[in-house]
Amino acid sequence: MSKPNFAPLKLFITGPTYIRQDVKEAALLPEFGHRDTENELRFGPIRENLRKLAGCGADFEPILCLGSGSTAMETSVRSLVAEDETILNVSVGSFGDMYFNLAASNGKKAVNLKFDYGEAIDLNVLEDKLKEVRPQVVSFTHNETSTGVVNDVKAVCALVRQYGAMPIVDGVSIFGGSELALSESGAAMYSTATQKALGLPAGFGIGFVSGEAEEKARKVTNKGHHHDITKHLDRARKNQTLTTPNTTLANQMWFQLDRIVNEEGIENRFARHREMRSMVEKWVGGLDGFEMFAPEGHRSPTLSTVICPEGVTTAQLKGIVKEALRGEGYLMDPGYFKLNQLLEEAGRRPIFRVGHMGDITPAMLTEYLAKLEGELDKLR
Ligand SMILES: *Cc1c(COP(=O)(O)O)cnc(C)c1O
Repeated sequence: MSKPNFAPLKLFITGPTYIRQDVKEAALLPEFGHRDTENELRFGPIRENLRKLAGCGADFEPILCLGSGSTAMETSVRSLVAEDETILNVSVGSFGDMYFNLAASNGKKAVNLKFDYGEAIDLNVLEDKLKEVRPQVVSFTHNETSTGVVNDVKAVCALVRQYGAMPIVDGVSIFGGSELALSESGAAMYSTATQKALGLPAGFGIGFVSGEAEEKARKVTNKGHHHDITKHLDRARKNQTLTTPNTTLANQMWFQLDRIVNEEGIENRFARHREMRSMVEKWVGGLDGFEMFAPEGHRSPTLSTVICPEGVTTAQLKGIVKEALRGEGYLMDPGYFKLNQLLEEAGRRPIFRVGHMGDITPAMLTEYLAKLEGELDKLR
């Protein structure tokens, strides 16, 4: 058999993320049958620890959809938007647009409310749109990965509820890296994934489903099979998945969630993410011509977006900088491509992203930022 020549790159992109050695080794735990008693030993603790990380109790059922974050998001759309209803998708970037596209491509009546790149949701603008559209369901992004902007989940949900609509939230790139307090959030369903701030390989879309969402889903028709919340819930309550799970990932997830909750500590994990956000802010503050892209108060704890000085191009970021860092063992994120294209077309300066989610440590980040700075210096 041939030997692979795969590069052991340290991932500083915004997902998939760096995986710790002990989490990799947990893949070696025994395989199991998903309708056997051994299954319970993995998914019982997994669902319990997911609730602890989310800050909820029996008011939300965690479901695991085979796929990734967008599978859970698509499940929310297919199960919670009825044929004659309208969904308002609120977008502050490319992943907000994705929720809209998921709804539209499933034949739902969907309206996309778009905010400018780098902005958070403006509640006044949203309120006007709610009055105009009168949607039954509203989706929005907790942490917009293309722009590094965080929205205030509780405030947005409260406004949506004032207009009688059901809020559903994409929390794919922040869950496990920041406090959520799901029970008090006002969200009816919250979707996330394994391969971002949870520091695991991709493979499950995770959905937190409220009783209210379950009740609604019972009345919605044409949900398909894999996107039917009610089918997922029947299995989830037995700590099972609807279809055959990736048992390797299940073992890793069992290990990782136990480690986060009982070894690292949830509060420490969240504090570590906030610390890394401050580190990038401080680093950018010391760099001539660079600026933070996301507005203060709405900056993500899991990824930072940085505006480059005049004259730096997307092509340079993707070419020179990224390739130089690859040579040093790092996978750099030269910005969300579509966003940089749009920014450059509008005569705006391009941005790059620093992913600091999951199990990246402040020490790893310090090392990376020094290398990155060295390469950025060479552009001038
Ligand atoms: C990565 C991401 C998604 C897509 O998730 P997949 O797991 O790739 O399906 C959706 N929303 C946000 C905010 C993301 O960061």
